[in-house]
Amino acid sequence: MPSYKAPVDDTLFLLRDVLEYERYGNLPRFGEAPLDVVEAVLSEGGKFAEEVLQPLNHSGDTQGCSRDADGSVRTPKGFKDAYKAYSEGGWVGLDGDPAYGGQGLPHFLAVALSEYTIAANLAFAMYPGLTNGAAAALATHGNAELKQRYLPKMTSGEWTATMNLTEPHCGTDLGLIKTRATPQADGSFAITGQKIFISAGEHDLTDNIIHLVLARIDGAPAGTKGISLFVVPKVIVGDDGSLGARNGVACGSIEHKMGIHGNATCVLNYDGAKGWLVGEENRGLNAMFVMMNAARLGVAVQGLSLSEVAYQNAAAYAKERLQGRSLTGPKAPDKPADPLLVHPDVRRMLLEIRAFNEAARALMLWVALSEDEALSSPDANARKLADDRVGLLTPVIKGVFTDQGFANAVKAQQVLGGHGYIAEWGMEQFVRDARITMIYEGANGVQALDLVGRKLPKDGGRAITAFFGDVSAFLAAGKDDAALAPYFGPAKAALGQLQQATMWLMQNGMKNPDNAGAASNDYMHLFGLASLAFMWARIAKAVLARQAAGTSDAALDSKLTLAKFFAARMLPEAGACLARLSSGAETLMALPAAAF
Ligand SMILES: Cc1cc2nc3c(=O)[nH]c(=O)nc-3n(C[C@H](O)[C@H](O)[C@H](O)COP(=O)(O)OP(=O)(O)OC[C@H]3O[C@@H](n4cnc5c(N)ncnc54)[C@H](O)[C@@H]3O)c2cc1C
Repeated sequence: MPSYKAPVDDTLFLLRDVLEYERYGNLPRFGEAPLDVVEAVLSEGGKFAEEVLQPLNHSGDTQGCSRDADGSVRTPKGFKDAYKAYSEGGWVGLDGDPAYGGQGLPHFLAVALSEYTIAANLAFAMYPGLTNGAAAALATHGNAELKQRYLPKMTSGEWTATMNLTEPHCGTDLGLIKTRATPQADGSFAITGQKIFISAGEHDLTDNIIHLVLARIDGAPAGTKGISLFVVPKVIVGDDGSLGARNGVACGSIEHKMGIHGNATCVLNYDGAKGWLVGEENRGLNAMFVMMNAARLGVAVQGLSLSEVAYQNAAAYAKERLQGRSLTGPKAPDKPADPLLVHPDVRRMLLEIRAFNEAARALMLWVALSEDEALSSPDANARKLADDRVGLLTPVIKGVFTDQGFANAVKAQQVLGGHGYIAEWGMEQFVRDARITMIYEGANGVQALDLVGRKLPKDGGRAITAFFGDVSAFLAAGKDDAALAPYFGPAKAALGQLQQATMWLMQNGMKNPDNAGAASNDYMHLFGLASLAFMWARIAKAVLARQAAGTSDAALDSKLTLAKFFAARMLPEAGACLARLSSGAETLMALPAAAF
């Protein structure tokens, strides 16, 4: 059976030493969250993940969800009690608005904690995760009445929420949405249509589920300009907050799928269900984007989480399993064979995962802290810069972390050999669970297009220019320090490659849009590699400072080796990305359709 230990110490090191946590002290919510409070929350939440959620991960996968004839859905044994404990512990509303009963802690703290809960049990973590995203959309675009009616119970976790975009004929291309919304005399709308693949669409964890649904008001223009957003509760909520009649939405079936079996993926049939408009008519995509962006960052975390839990179990196995002898002579002569860990190729697999995880955690926390800055910095310019950074890096980390998360789960599985393929060891579940993260919340190909097509050119390239400025300034400040050179040099080279790739896109993407599409995946991965190299440079600098102060330890010292491993054995891929993307669209588009 696999196990999991929340990497609280690493999160704290990254916050304190690498990301200079005190720099965020001017943000309103950070007064309530000095580092000792952060540590207490992460330790307590980490314990919950390890002791309550992780033990339900394998059983939840084996049992899955089941649907009864009346359309009700049962989650796996233990989920209901765990959810009750999770919501009663105040974890759902950790960063929720105190006006609706939230704890008002900074947003990054909820993100940091979500790494642990997801690693322990992704299928479970999706129930509250979706609720948080829906609450953010309602808080931003809902009117006072809607907020008052729904947000308190979503914040406390008494109700969960869902995101309803996908229909049978329409996934990526939301302009094709057919679900109808017919205005009613009382100001509500009758929602009719079918949504598919709705995560947490029906379950037995709570008495009510709040669906956020994209639909087209009768007579609305075709395409994305005619889509509106509605809140549609499973059970109608009275003016006094009491639960009334069942609404006209029912779960038609649940999907039988590759992974995340403990999370119910539902077909939801809307048959004149009562819904209320959120935000303006025909501006629904804009309102839903608040939830979609939150969900994209949440899914990025899923990639890291699965990579981390897979690493922990593979590393433990490699230390125990005796197989073969070291190429340089026995390392455990008293045993019948040496542990797997002596073999360079086994180390390669483990180190590739670990060197990703530790820098990815830093990048995730930097983005999460930037979200806090974007939401609440008293300085308007700082808000704008942070918002740009989050917008730019969201598709990068969604695409790169989840591609890498899956690849790393496969690598970790490989470390276990045949046992990795056997259910009992849990590795095959990590592989199956990780696979969906590359697909939902905008498939990764669409993230790459969002990056090159929307995020780069936005506001005349303001965000990418600022990003280049941030990285260059950091690296320039250390240019005369020989101790930093092994870490800063590779980061500088990767930045140069990313700048070259950006220039190539500017020159060739406009000329032929297929060049931009053909370059997008490599560009996104090059961006990811350059960002991770930047994080390794920051981590190395912080470790060297700790060594100079005499406060380092073995765990921190090992980061310098990991940084060098990353530069020597993973960063060269940046050059391959640059070479591939600069070859243009020609070889991709040359074959006629009939030749496929
Ligand atoms: C387990 C699970 C849970 C889900 N949960 C939810 C949920 O809670 N709510 C919800 O609304 N949806 C949910 N989805 C749906 C999911 O978001 C979609 O499946 C996903 O967005 C892709 O849409 P699609 O399946 O229709 O694929 P398509 O849109 O048909 O795309 C197929 C492939 O073509 C590529 N592609 C499509 N268009 C383009 C383009 N213009 N340029 C380049 N490449 C393109 C895509 O990248 C993809 O690789 C879930 C799906 C699953 C399987």
